[in-house]
This record gives sequence, structure tokens and C-alpha cells, in this order.
Amino acid sequence: MRARLVAGNWKMHGSRAANASLLDALVDGLGGLGGLAKTGKRGGCECAVCVPFPFLEQVAARLTGTSIAWGAQNVSEHAAGAFTGEVSGAMLAEFGCRYVIVGHSERRQLFGEDDARVAAKFVAAQASGLIPILCVGETLEAREAGRTEAVVSAQLDAVLATSGAAGFARAVIAYEPVWAIGTGKTASAEQAQAVHALLRARLAGQGASEAEAVRILYGGSVKAANAAAIFAMPDVDGGLIGGASLEAQALLAIVAAADAQPANT
Ligand code: PEP
Repeated sequence: MRARLVAGNWKMHGSRAANASLLDALVDGLGGLGGLAKTGKRGGCECAVCVPFPFLEQVAARLTGTSIAWGAQNVSEHAAGAFTGEVSGAMLAEFGCRYVIVGHSERRQLFGEDDARVAAKFVAAQASGLIPILCVGETLEAREAGRTEAVVSAQLDAVLATSGAAGFARAVIAYEPVWAIGTGKTASAEQAQAVHALLRARLAGQGASEAEAVRILYGGSVKAANAAAIFAMPDVDGGLIGGASLEAQALLAIVAAADAQPANT
């Protein structure tokens, strides 16, 4: 059984005041969804928010004792040292992070993170006890050239090469087609399912039990209106949510859509 996960990616958004209202609304709203936040009991869908580094202390203070987990959006592949501007996994762990996104397409495209670097970040996250959310996904150009499978397979293989299938025993994968991120275009439920199934099959080639258990999230313009159809797919175990995660009611509706689905097995 794979417990569903809906993780928000705030990207470079937020302020102390805006975060306070958003977090209050999320905690209150999840309390209404089977009492998840009030009891601290995890139900059918886990919820997490991945926030900018400076807000981790505020988020940790507000979410401690609730069922909502938190994390960061990037981590250094290095443990410590002269790496100005970088943040280590150990630092994130000190702020109670459960998750960290690695290899988001914005990091790959805008900050030149290649597959090898992403794989090193995956290792660094786990070395600090964090659960990496490994993002993979193809550009529109690659999809139109029929290269989706080749691109996402290469991105997954880079991590398999360093961490093996065993590395996925404590990790999450997010399939995020680059053409769907922040564009309002969403992959159809069938397109998402096809890529999720191929990622799981590729992992199964190296570790059947890890492949069965790993959660594969879909990300790319998920909204309340399209979440249920995507989450109904057998290999879609939740979502990584950008824009909609900044609006409490939108994120809550997406969590409710995931929560309403039976767990995938
Ligand atoms: C993301 O940033 O990971 C993302 C999926 O963004 P959006 O939901 O805005 O497309």
C-alpha cells in the first residue's frame, strides 16, 4: 500500500505574514478532513509543504504537532565547507525537514543542475535523514520528438547508478513534464499514467519491492479541477503542486481529492 502524498512547492514565494495565514488555513482545513491535523494521525493522504530556506523556522514552529510535514526545495551535494550560498542536508534536518525536492526542472534548466549533480544531491539528502523528492520530466521538444521515455529513464538511471534500487526505499519520485509546469497545461491522466508506469517498471528491473512501494507523484499545473482524474490512475500516488499550493483552499481541495482515492497497491 502506498500512502498518498500531496506536497506543495512554494518556489520563491511567501512572506512571514502571507505564510502565517496560509499555514493557519491549511492546519484548520486539514482538521476538517478527518481530523488529520488536529489528531496528528496520518490518514489516506499525507500533506507537506516545501518552502524557501528562510521560512523553515516559521514553518517548523507552526506545523510541529500537526500532521503536515515540511521540507525544502534544494540541498547542497556537499556536507559542509566553502560553498557560499549553499545549504546542507544537516542544516535542513536541524529545522525538522522531512522532505527535500531534488532535480526540480527549474533547478535543472535555470541553474544548470545535470543528472550527476542531482544524483549527488539525492545521496546527500538521504545521508542527512531527509526524504528526497526526485523530479524527472521531459521538455515539450523532447516529447514531440518521441524522447519522453529516453529522457526520464536517463534521469532515473543517474540516481540508480549511485544509489541503486535500495535508495528508493526512502524516496519519492515526482514526474513533472516541463511543458506542464506553471503553464496551465496538464498532462492527461493517461499521459501521466504511462510515464509513471514506465518509471516504476524501470525501477522494478533493479528492485521489485522498492518499485512497488515507491510513491510517484505527478506535478504540472495540478488544480482542484483536474486532481481527481489524475489521482485515479493506478501508478499516480499524489501530486507535487506549485502555483495551487499558495492558495489554501486550492491545496486543501487537491488533498481532499487524493484522500478520497483508495490507496494504490
Ligand atoms: C512545480 O513547481 O513543481 C509545479 C508542478 O508547478 P505548477 O503546479 O505551478 O505547475
